[in-house]
Amino acid sequence: MNMLKGRTVVITGASSGIGRATALAFARCRCRLVLSARRLGVLEQVAEQCRRAHSEAITVQTDVTDPKAVQELARATEEAFGGIDVWVNNAGTGVFGNYSKVPLALHRRTVEVNLFGAMHGAYAVLPVFKRQRQGTLINNISIGAWCPSPYTASYTASKFGVRGFSASLRQELLTWPDIHVCSVFPTIVDTPGLEHAANFSGRRINPGPLLYAPEDVAEAIVGLVTHPRDEVAVGWPARVAQVAYNMARRPTEWAVGSIMRTIVKHADTAPPYEGALLHPVPQGTSTSGGWRRRNHVPSAGTLTRLSFTGVGIAILLAGMAHSRRHS
Ligand code: NDP
Repeated sequence: MNMLKGRTVVITGASSGIGRATALAFARCRCRLVLSARRLGVLEQVAEQCRRAHSEAITVQTDVTDPKAVQELARATEEAFGGIDVWVNNAGTGVFGNYSKVPLALHRRTVEVNLFGAMHGAYAVLPVFKRQRQGTLINNISIGAWCPSPYTASYTASKFGVRGFSASLRQELLTWPDIHVCSVFPTIVDTPGLEHAANFSGRRINPGPLLYAPEDVAEAIVGLVTHPRDEVAVGWPARVAQVAYNMARRPTEWAVGSIMRTIVKHADTAPPYEGALLHPVPQGTSTSGGWRRRNHVPSAGTLTRLSFTGVGIAILLAGMAHSRRHS
């Protein structure tokens, strides 16, 4: 039975990548959707795709750095659908580069979108949840909030911030058993995110071969509505990084720092680029960033499943050979 049918879901950053994949995943569950981002034309296309999956969908152009606009997003949702069951703080961005060589305005903007954007969302929706005595707030965070990496200082700061913010809210809401605050920690995902991020490193960044699909994150987010959890990882590397950082902080910082420095050193050169931080850009509208296709790799989820199957078959064959030798 589809337990999500008819639930009202608000998603920020729904015009591309994980947000778009999440909208489509909720649409398949016949939820009522409110899609927000800055690119209204692209949002309309996503809404049309959701309607084709027989879900109701409206769009509200919103810049999450503007608290009034986010309040208006909540108000418009209540007016259209009479309440809010799920709010997904997904809008996000970042700037890559040596901390002191990146314009300070871009660091500020990263924190404004990622941390203040999530705070504005919670500020708008929690009074609604309390009035209803139920609701699920989902913050899409990052592996970067469990294990920091170099050249992403403001992104890391913002995501550590959202993690702490979510945990604090959870404590505050302990006496509201049907209001949930859930955090999602994806590993690296193939989305247009890299195209939308600013880059002042002087190097062209390739996210490498271990890339999860945006649909993997969408599935985790949808799952949290029926089975709320405080923190959920998407992809085993996120958990490995979390454990490594908690158990051996300095060696992990050294290893991640060295790997990143080597990658950057050997990458092709690239001019400085502001991405979509200050103003939206037309490119990068789909769920995927096209990296798996260009790098000729399957998704990390598929790769992991294939590896486990391979190991399972190898163990089985070894077991059969062993018992034949001893029979
Ligand atoms: P995308 O760039 O594809 O998605 C970002 C979304 O946020 C877009 O819809 C964009 O739309 C929106 N957005 C950006 N700035 C604003 C703003 N000021 N106000 C409102 N909306 C805004 O990248 P991803 O899908 O990768 O990123 C989604 C989330 O996932 C982010 O929070 C990111 O940190 C997180 N994440 C991503 C990972 C990855 O490897 N890709 C890994 C871990 C976490 P528009 O430009 O139309 O406003």
